[in-house]
Amino acid sequence: MIELDIPVKTHDESRQGEALMLEQQPEKKNGRKLYIESYGCAMNFSDSEIVASILLDKGFETTNDFKNADVIFINTCSIRENAEVRVRNRLKEFKVAKSKNPGMVVGVLGCMAERLKSKFLEEEKLVDVVVGPDAYRDLPNLIEQVDGGQRAVNVLLSREETYADINPVRLNSNGINAFVSIMRGCDNMCSFCVVPFTRGRERSRDAHSIIQECTDLFNQGYREVTLLGQNVDSYKWQAPPKPSPEGRALDAGEVSPTGGDLEGAGEVVNFARLLELTALVNTELRVRFSTSHPKDITDEVLYTIAKYDNICNYIHLPVQSGNSRVLDIMNRTYTREWYIDRIDAIRRIIPECAISTDVITGFCTETDEEHQDTVSMMDYVKYDFAYMFMYSERPGTLAAKRYADDIPEDVKKTRLQEIVAKQQQYSLVRLQAQIGKVQKVLIEGTSKKSDQDYCGRSDQNAMVIFPIDERFKPGQYVKVLAEKCTSATIIGRIID
Ligand code: SAM
Ligand code: SF4
Repeated sequence: MIELDIPVKTHDESRQGEALMLEQQPEKKNGRKLYIESYGCAMNFSDSEIVASILLDKGFETTNDFKNADVIFINTCSIRENAEVRVRNRLKEFKVAKSKNPGMVVGVLGCMAERLKSKFLEEEKLVDVVVGPDAYRDLPNLIEQVDGGQRAVNVLLSREETYADINPVRLNSNGINAFVSIMRGCDNMCSFCVVPFTRGRERSRDAHSIIQECTDLFNQGYREVTLLGQNVDSYKWQAPPKPSPEGRALDAGEVSPTGGDLEGAGEVVNFARLLELTALVNTELRVRFSTSHPKDITDEVLYTIAKYDNICNYIHLPVQSGNSRVLDIMNRTYTREWYIDRIDAIRRIIPECAISTDVITGFCTETDEEHQDTVSMMDYVKYDFAYMFMYSERPGTLAAKRYADDIPEDVKKTRLQEIVAKQQQYSLVRLQAQIGKVQKVLIEGTSKKSDQDYCGRSDQNAMVIFPIDERFKPGQYVKVLAEKCTSATIIGRIID
């Protein structure tokens, strides 16, 4: 897998395998330390915060040294084979630590746990606990079972679980940006993808709890939320009937005079409405979201983004392939023309919008000409950023059952290199177009490369570096004049 060195937050390569630490201490310590390491997409990092929240309640503290831990959890990703290889290697290291400290509990969480289930216990003998993404509430019981000398598995998938009532603690937080999970699972059946099998059916989280979480975050000083889901455009939640103060159920659209109701009884909140409600939490709270699906992104969503200044002008719209036949066997349910229509709509309704994408090269039976359609799509859209991957066959997926993984590795790689080079060119062109313009930047902290500089992101999600000015602190917005750039970063200075 090759990923460009570009600042897209949804799958941050630099965070892979990061040990997550809590700022809060448990109210009543149980004397045990948790080490939790996460891989994969932002959703997994967000899930680790739910896990930490559940265990904080039970008195666990966190540590960033697994050798000193009483419980080691690894939250895993199955999306490509190399993600799984990485986790297996890590488990071998944990096994060595456990041989020195037999009381240590080692657990696998997330997608790989769901995919391999008890195989982890039977064949590999590397772990004590295996827990799928919908079973985190059961973790305290499962740890108890292991303490009692058993091995423990819970990989039940749920149609309801959204962890809506669990207020996630923030791990390794900069206190400015937070991920907020708005839905779980996925009902699309993209033929290459393991997610519907590992994360189950799609379900949307209660809108009230989402808005409450965003409001709490804002009150704690956070200034940016990223709403997360595998397909945010299909978010749909129906407000349950609620009695009014006079004891009768509220009608659709009627808002309770006692406050607290975002919606009247039975009213359906779609993604456009949820975006709007989040934007209304406070004009100083930036709103981002990921991931959009080309088949579901509506003009209503685009008009909502255009209407609110604090909804960032940035859309991640994975194309996967620029060829309609390949899209068809990928089961993406849109064509090249449909995708282009959505791009044209974005350009028309939000002219300044940055667009990023995901691309897979060398999917089953893809010809050179079909690959060239992906290249020409990149020329058409001129993406700001892209994640590009070689196809990796995943056991159990529709593609693995139906089609041979028949594109040789070197061909997949050559195609990948071609699109990576193309993207680097367009990333540079996109950032060059910003030079001489003033960017509204949310300061996130000191630059990793220089302690003389601040870093933050523009509305369009570009990383911006500029000299520290003591008048401004992280969490504040500043106006930065873009003076130069690389293909990944804008360099500028604050203007008054
Ligand atoms: N739900 C999102 C969507 O539909 O675009 C993204 C889900 S997935 C976690 C992120 C990306 O991984 C996908 O967009 C796809 O490009 C890539 N991916 C998924 N399965 C893959 C596979 N078997 N081989 C290579 N890349 C894959
Ligand atoms: Fe996987 Fe497709 Fe669902 Fe994205 S939309 S998670 S690629 S099945």
